[in-house]
Amino acid sequence: MGESERGESAPRQRVSYWCANGHESRPAFAVDAEKPDSWDCPRCGLPAGLDEQAPPKPPRNEPYKTHLAYVKERRSDADGEAILAEALAKLKAKREL
Ligand SMILES: [Zn+2]
Repeated sequence: MGESERGESAPRQRVSYWCANGHESRPAFAVDAEKPDSWDCPRCGLPAGLDEQAPPKPPRNEPYKTHLAYVKERRSDADGEAILAEALAKLKAKREL
């Protein structure tokens, strides 16, 4: 017990990654393991790369757009009208109170 826990059989190396915000993260990898080209910055979540001078560009806000497009696609015009009608009915009901 403990031989490998002391790290004697699996030497580790720390690798520096930089994100677009200039954060450095230094995950440790086994020396014989292949280092990934990118690493998610633990501080801001942006992808970080091995080159401090050229960190990976932050991804654009595509997910939001994609999500909207997805919703639009799924929601038929009829659904949209029903939702609108419901909203109008609620407005009307409030006014009549
Ligand atoms: Zn960061």
